[in-house]
Amino acid sequence: MRGQAGYGSRMPDAGGPVIIQPMSTPTPPQGEPATAGLDFIREIIVNDRAAGKHGGRVHTRFPPEPNGYLHIGHAKAICLNFGVAEEFGGLCNLRFDDTNPTTEDVEYVESIMEDVRWLGFDWGDRLYYAADYFERMYECAERLIVMGKAYVDSLTPDEIREHRGTLTEPGRNSPYRDRSIEENLDLFRRMRAGEFPDGTHVLRAKIDMASPNINMRDPALYRIRHASHHRTGDAWCIYPMYDYAHPLEDAFEGITHSLCTLEFEDHRPFYDWVIDTLDFEHQPQQIEFARLNLSYTVMSKRKLLRLVQDGLVSGWDDPRMPTLAGLRRRGVTPEAIRDFCDRIGLAKKENTIDVALLEHCIREDLNRRADRVMAVLRPLKLVIENFPEGEVEWMEAVNNPEDASAGSRQVPFTRELWIEQDDFREDPPKKYHRLSPGAEVRLRYGYIVKCTGLRKDPQTGEVIEVRCTYDPATLSGKGPEAGRRVKGTIHWVSAAHAHPIEVRLYDRLFTKADPEDAPEGQDFRANLNPHSLDVIDRAWVEPAAAGRPAGYRCQFERLGYFVVDPDATADRLVFNRIVSLRDTWAKIERQGQ
Ligand code: ATP
Ligand code: MG
Repeated sequence: MRGQAGYGSRMPDAGGPVIIQPMSTPTPPQGEPATAGLDFIREIIVNDRAAGKHGGRVHTRFPPEPNGYLHIGHAKAICLNFGVAEEFGGLCNLRFDDTNPTTEDVEYVESIMEDVRWLGFDWGDRLYYAADYFERMYECAERLIVMGKAYVDSLTPDEIREHRGTLTEPGRNSPYRDRSIEENLDLFRRMRAGEFPDGTHVLRAKIDMASPNINMRDPALYRIRHASHHRTGDAWCIYPMYDYAHPLEDAFEGITHSLCTLEFEDHRPFYDWVIDTLDFEHQPQQIEFARLNLSYTVMSKRKLLRLVQDGLVSGWDDPRMPTLAGLRRRGVTPEAIRDFCDRIGLAKKENTIDVALLEHCIREDLNRRADRVMAVLRPLKLVIENFPEGEVEWMEAVNNPEDASAGSRQVPFTRELWIEQDDFREDPPKKYHRLSPGAEVRLRYGYIVKCTGLRKDPQTGEVIEVRCTYDPATLSGKGPEAGRRVKGTIHWVSAAHAHPIEVRLYDRLFTKADPEDAPEGQDFRANLNPHSLDVIDRAWVEPAAAGRPAGYRCQFERLGYFVVDPDATADRLVFNRIVSLRDTWAKIERQGQ
């Protein structure tokens, strides 16, 4: 894994100043700008404002292409764009970059709006579609032709590729490069009118086929594509290329800072060429930052689509997916994701973040807000021999030790309980502090019990029941010997009161930190974790968690954080594990201290 960033830690960028956490309050544009402690993008903005650039305005945009669901990488871009606008009293647009009719769909448009709102951001009345600018983009293209800055090329796609040259060799001019303005205009209009089949002509910028930057070697502006568009239907059969469309969209909307990921760095000269050549009133400025890469995760929409299409996950919202829809269904809160995005900061150099940091943010957030309840996932019967049959005692249990306002609840205690199979060993290993013949443990919120015997299935030899006696003086917090210490405390539920639940234990989707590191001839799918989902058909939960609606989050004590899945019905409660309690990130942090 390459560089790792931790919360509160400084992340070096490409030789420049170190990047630390973003600030939260705007700096007024007066005097010497204060940029200490800012990431490089906020520093640029502070300086721009101090210099009066863009009239001091800050206007950003989040420009997804609606060809898939948003993932946590997009969350970084969303938090950055909306965050910066908010901090500097500016605006942020939501803009669908829908210039490619064949991969885009309204399902994606709707999911993207839902996800941005869910993350907690609001684009107000500034919802835009690149497709709504098609006419203006077309006019700009005609202007470029008239200026002698664009031409229709009629080479085949293969010939265009051959003429482009390589990183070490310059390209060659197309024989069509010197067509007259009239001929270019005529051909371009006929392209639009649908006279030509796909691939027969393209409109290209006339820049420099010998440029060391391949993106400047007469890049394509328009291609012919006889395809229906999710928004414009069959109105168009020519579509603008992304690199041409994007600066125009930014210029039309008066964007000041066009924040994008590093792979567009080499495209910036062309971005600037479009803006300069067409001489727009608003001159947006493209600034690149490192995209979020996460260990044990694939992030590209194309790959996520593969997982969905191949049925390797249950859909875009499968709780194992790094999509926002998946994370939401998994039970992750938007606050945890925003916190994560804050902590990773911004860098100018590619890096990979340890997924344990994300899990840590999720735990920290849930620790503060989630009710504690008791559930037994792999049940074993515990019979308390000296507790009267049919009697119920109600134990007081705090709902959240981190939040006094969450109050407490009553948990029924009876002669027969369910405990975890793991909490009993007939032959305990050393330092096993749970239940074993002759040993004592405390039942959470209840009494100390002592194991007196066990019963086995005569056929399989499996332990099917554990027997014990309880010490009435040891009731937690109340009995005269409440303070008596034993080494282990285990959770339990009353067999007579517990509700049956289905539990889906989710784990990381890939077994390798770098899922792309696959054997020869295979791809990331070779590294799928076969144990990423373990379904327990019948577990038991205390009554307090029964009847909770989808989205209800709680901590099953000692087991992890769980959420009620939308699949749950009145007769069938389904819980997803959000995250276990084991915090590997906290451990890394402690070791680093
Ligand atoms: P993918 O490669 O996953 O398909 P994309 O960049 O093609 O992503 P877009 O819909 O074009 O997806 O992205 C919208 C915005 O989100 C862009 O500005 C892009 O730079 C940003 N973005 C996409 N992926 C990441 C990421 N992993 N980290 C940060 N920003 C990202
Ligand atoms: Mg894309």
